[in-house]
Amino acid sequence: MSKPRTYQTEAIIIKKTKLGEADRILTLYTPHLGKIQAFAKGVRRPRSKLAGHLELLTYSLVSLARGRNLDTIIGSQTINSFLSLKSDLELTSYALYVAELIDKFTADEVENYPLFQLLLETLERLGEAGDKELALRYFELHLLDKVGYRPQLQQCVSCHLPLEPLTNSFCPSAGGMLCPNCSPNQPLTYPVSLKRPKSTTTISG
Ligand SMILES: [Zn+2]
Repeated sequence: MSKPRTYQTEAIIIKKTKLGEADRILTLYTPHLGKIQAFAKGVRRPRSKLAGHLELLTYSLVSLARGRNLDTIIGSQTINSFLSLKSDLELTSYALYVAELIDKFTADEVENYPLFQLLLETLERLGEAGDKELALRYFELHLLDKVGYRPQLQQCVSCHLPLEPLTNSFCPSAGGMLCPNCSPNQPLTYPVSLKRPKSTTTISG
């Protein structure tokens, strides 16, 4: 049996790329198809009916028609536009950081339902009152776990010495903790204090 010509999926728009004068290639993260690229025809025209449902960081129910190379978006209905994230510049940048990490850490068309759930929950959490930094650190740690890189937390990922009870740093790109000697050499690190915030244990995942 051949695959149906059209299909529908929930999706979060994690990236958009301009194509030609009015079109875009969108990168969608879906619950059961993983990351897919899709052609969005005419969405940069002012009167496009689809455009509003296909904004970056929007959670939508998307209909697609199979194509030879790329599938084409033929319909879209917003489930959650995450307006609170888009109306605040700082929150937008946090959410875009989350979307970019999802894009960088995944290959096309590999289903990872727990990762979709993590993405959705993180966008929801960023839109709510609460500690945004904590939400981001929670996301980074669980992202590494869900894509198969469990972070190294017992020893320094650079010099491999056991971590001392000091303020060490978490480095997402290195995949774990860095001791105070090694962390200055890494561009993106987050100091981790010894006290474990109580709230981290209450977030389910
Ligand atoms: Zn070290």
